[in-house]
Amino acid sequence: MRDFAQIQQTDYDVIIIGGGINGAGVARDAALRGLRTILIEKTDFASGSSSWSTRLIHGGLRYLEYFEFPLVRESLKEREVLLHTAPHLVNPLQLTIPIYRDRSRPYWKIWVGMILYDIFSFDKTLPVHRMLPKAKFQQLFRSLDGENLTGGSQYYDGQVTLAERLCLENIISAQNAGATVLNYVEVTEILLKGSRITDVVCKDKLTGESITISGSADAVVINTAGPWIDYVCKLGSKAGKDFPIGNKQKNGSTKGSHIVVGNFPGAPGSTLYVEAKSDGRPFFIVPWLGMYLIGTTDIPYKDDLENIKANNEEIDYLLRETNNIIPTANLERDDIKFTYSGVRPLPNSEGKKPGSITRKHIIFDHRKEGVDNFFTLIGGKLTTYRNVGEEMVDAIFKRMKRSPKPCRTDSLPLPGCILPSDARIQKAITEYGSTLSTNTIDHLFTIYGAKALEVLTLTKENPELSEPLSPDLPDIKAQIVYAVESEFAHTLVDIMRRRTTLAMNGHYGMDLLPILTETLQKHCGWTQEKCDRACAEYRFYMEHNCIPDYQLT
Ligand SMILES: Cc1cc2nc3c(=O)[nH]c(=O)nc-3n(C[C@H](O)[C@H](O)[C@H](O)COP(=O)(O)OP(=O)(O)OC[C@H]3O[C@@H](n4cnc5c(N)ncnc54)[C@H](O)[C@@H]3O)c2cc1C
Repeated sequence: MRDFAQIQQTDYDVIIIGGGINGAGVARDAALRGLRTILIEKTDFASGSSSWSTRLIHGGLRYLEYFEFPLVRESLKEREVLLHTAPHLVNPLQLTIPIYRDRSRPYWKIWVGMILYDIFSFDKTLPVHRMLPKAKFQQLFRSLDGENLTGGSQYYDGQVTLAERLCLENIISAQNAGATVLNYVEVTEILLKGSRITDVVCKDKLTGESITISGSADAVVINTAGPWIDYVCKLGSKAGKDFPIGNKQKNGSTKGSHIVVGNFPGAPGSTLYVEAKSDGRPFFIVPWLGMYLIGTTDIPYKDDLENIKANNEEIDYLLRETNNIIPTANLERDDIKFTYSGVRPLPNSEGKKPGSITRKHIIFDHRKEGVDNFFTLIGGKLTTYRNVGEEMVDAIFKRMKRSPKPCRTDSLPLPGCILPSDARIQKAITEYGSTLSTNTIDHLFTIYGAKALEVLTLTKENPELSEPLSPDLPDIKAQIVYAVESEFAHTLVDIMRRRTTLAMNGHYGMDLLPILTETLQKHCGWTQEKCDRACAEYRFYMEHNCIPDYQLT
């Protein structure tokens, strides 16, 4: 998989820097349209912003307030595409908005918003909205604050519970279509001759080896480094001297944090979309993995991009506002299971209120800055990644002066695509039911979709891999081996945070480290030293990203 000698002998048509959801979407489309494609990711796929979102595949009801109608339409169209091409990952999600007299968005305004949202999604398969008068609303949501309540509204969007796996499936699909995909390889220098990028120099972070990746005569280089796009532009080098590409900052990140809590008194059975009492900002309370994901905040951010963490102020804000809307919740800091935080890659908009900065993406052509074969993606949501890929690949073909092959990603299913009614699931329950519980088999299909069959095959080849990782969890040893052998996982963080849901269990997944390292040593050839290092890295990651500061002292 990491044949660097071969990679260095190849001339690529498309070199993509950054393996978050947008880089993955570009790589998939480019490879499917026959371009020799390489994607380079400095950490793990989906380890940047793509790992820290609210996990909604949504039209962005809020964007209507800023008259971003084309963005809403684009997002709603993409929501429909994902519901059909990735039904194992993206599910319909009912959202409820409680409406209050003393908040900034009155009943009529929400109603108008709902009608517009339905108009912009005229071709949807999800149900249309419904407005709820006060009495009906209170009957359905008894635990919600009733003071100044005027009613509510319900509508549908999508939820991608495992956003990291949506990215991964795009990566796998890109590889299946012929792309070379590399994680833990960092682009350290971008070499230019005249007005063209000819090569990119990279460092393999697993071995320290330096490698040079070359472009074909008409190659195009794509910067999908999310919040890191400006750093990537600064990697330019010409005739042995630094040659930063462009001098204007393009990214203007804002930080968003979430808290995750277990069930609580008055917890809603479905998602709430609520206006905060203190500052009028909308935030979500979303059922997620048997817990509740509550967020987000929206704060201008210019600090370290590597380890971003919710601070106590953000945590208290989200707790307070949840308790405001659900008075019986009485949530306190101790109720938090973990937090997570990330930055939104947004167009640089100095001086603007974070919430009002456009969420629309821009494909920036560096020809304006004297570089002919370089495009940077500024912004871009999880929801719209596929369309970003299509637009970017169209731009690539145009720049190469080649006639574009048709894009197929709007209808081509992702590799794990399967519906709950698929006969293969029942067949697997019959075939593996004597060694694995139905709960485990269901869990595998929920995580891997149709690819669960490959995980199950591992248990047939080696029955020891059917063993559970813990008596309380449906997860089995085969998942660990599968992550390493078939899903590019190199670290415990990759395995526990982005290939499986193990990190979101119990004591930050720490209790599982012994059985995981034992499995990795026995079945994947990891040495004791590698396991010790991986455990230390895992603890560092959780402490610097997910465990609130007050729990560390
Ligand atoms: C709090 C929050 C909530 C959000 N909620 C939603 C939501 O509900 N729905 C939605 O649609 N969107 C949401 N978003 C937005 C969405 O998550 C991001 O816009 C999207 O994930 C960006 O993806 P990306 O691929 O552009 O960037 P990233 O995921 O950040 O990927 C960029 C990658 O580039 C890599 N990279 C950087 N430098 C180099 C280099 N030199 N060499 C190689 N690789 C490099 C990084 O390691 C990183 O993995 C949210 C974002 C946040 C922060």
